[in-house]
Amino acid sequence: MTLNIYSHVFELPITKVETLLPSALLEEMKEFMERNTLAVSRQAGKKKIHCCTRCLKAHALKTAKEMNFLYLEKLIDRIIEAEAGHNGYYMDEDDLIKI
Ligand SMILES: [Zn+2]
Repeated sequence: MTLNIYSHVFELPITKVETLLPSALLEEMKEFMERNTLAVSRQAGKKKIHCCTRCLKAHALKTAKEMNFLYLEKLIDRIIEAEAGHNGYYMDEDDLIKI
């Protein structure tokens, strides 16, 4: 699976992240970023999507749990260095979702 987007939230190079995270989870994270984009910039010809890192992390953790990828919790925590959500909640488009 190839991600056409590059996010500043990933501390590791995206190619490395791709090998670590299941493609179904990566795809869901990509879709989350696209529907919750705050800004788009370009760096070295690559599209860089900016979204709320804390909400993305909360969504990634919730999605991993729903997919029974519980072992990914620590990995996501390492890749996205931020608190998950905001006081127990995160936003996905217009929806306020409880973590
Ligand atoms: Zn947020």
